[in-house]
Amino acid sequence: MSILRADLHTHSTVSDGTDTPSELVAQAARARLDVIGLADHDTFAGLAEAYAAAQHWGVELLAGMEFSTQRNGSSIHLVAYGCDPDNAALAVELDKVRASRSNRLATMVQLLTEAGLPITVADVRAQAGGSPSLGRPHIADALVARGYVANRDEAFATWLGDDCPCYVPRYEPDLIDAIGLVRAAGGVAVMAHPWARGRRSVLTEAFLTELVHDHGLDGIEVFHPEHDEHVRAELGTLAAKLELLPFGASDYHGTGKTNNPLGCETTDVAVYTEVLARIQARGGYPHGRMLG
Ligand code: AMP
Ligand code: FE
Ligand code: FE
Ligand code: ZN
Repeated sequence: MSILRADLHTHSTVSDGTDTPSELVAQAARARLDVIGLADHDTFAGLAEAYAAAQHWGVELLAGMEFSTQRNGSSIHLVAYGCDPDNAALAVELDKVRASRSNRLATMVQLLTEAGLPITVADVRAQAGGSPSLGRPHIADALVARGYVANRDEAFATWLGDDCPCYVPRYEPDLIDAIGLVRAAGGVAVMAHPWARGRRSVLTEAFLTELVHDHGLDGIEVFHPEHDEHVRAELGTLAAKLELLPFGASDYHGTGKTNNPLGCETTDVAVYTEVLARIQARGGYPHGRMLG
C-alpha cells in the first residue's frame, strides 16, 4: 500500500490564498498528496470547484473551513471539517463574520490614507478578485501593488498587524459557541496553530482541557510551520494526554506566505480516517454538501 499523504489545511483565492481552488488541487497532485483539505477563511465557496478538480487529478478532497473566532478578545482560528454548509445557524454566523470583514475595509483604507499610504476600497477589491471573504492580506496586496511595501510580511509588520496603527478589529463569535456550531453542523472541530502568534497564553492546558471535556473539541494542530520543535513536542504530549487528534498541515497560502509550502507538514492516515468516521457519525459531508 502506498503511503497516504494528507495536507488538511490550505487556502485558495476564495479567501487569502493565491491559487484558485483548481490550481491548488493541481499543485497538490504535483506535490504527491493523496488528500488535500481546503479550509478557506469563513467560507465554503471554494469547495465545489476544488471537488471537481480533485476528481480530475485523482486527489481526495476533505471539505474544510477556517472559522475566525475569539476568546476574551483574542483571535483564535478553528478549522472545521465536514460541516453541512447549508446548516442555518452556522450560515448565519459566517454571514456575520464576512459582512464584518467587508465593513471594516473602508475604515482601514481611511486610516492607511491618513497615515500617508493613500489607497482605495477599489484597490483592495481588485486584489481580492471577488473573494467573498475579504481580509487584511488583500489590503496588504494593494499596498504592495502601490509600491508602499515589498510584500505581505512587511505590510503586516508595519501597518496591518494586530498591534499596528491601521488595524481595525472585526466581529468573531466566541470560540466555545463556534465549536458548538461546527459540531451541530455535523463537523469536526480542530484548533488551528494553537500555540503560534502568542496564543499559548490564551489556549492554556487548563482551557484546552475544558474545551475537550465540556465542549467537544476534536483535535489540535501539532505540526504547523509556526510551531517550533519544542512546541511540537509539548503539544504532542498534551494531545495524547487529552485524547485530542493530532494534526499536521502546511497552512499553504500560495505565494501569500513563504514559509508554508504545500505538503511541508502532513496528518497521519489514522487521524484522517478517524476524521472521516466522526463526520459520518455526525451526519456531516466530508467532501462537500452538493456531493452527498
Ligand atoms: P484578517 O482575517 O483579515 O484579520 O487577516 C488575518 C489573516 O492574515 C490570517 O488568517 C493570516 O492568513 C494572514 N496573515 C497574518 N499575518 C500575516 C503575515 N505576516 N503575512 C501574511 N499573511 C498574514
Ligand atoms: Fe489566511
Ligand atoms: Fe489561521
Ligand atoms: Zn489557515
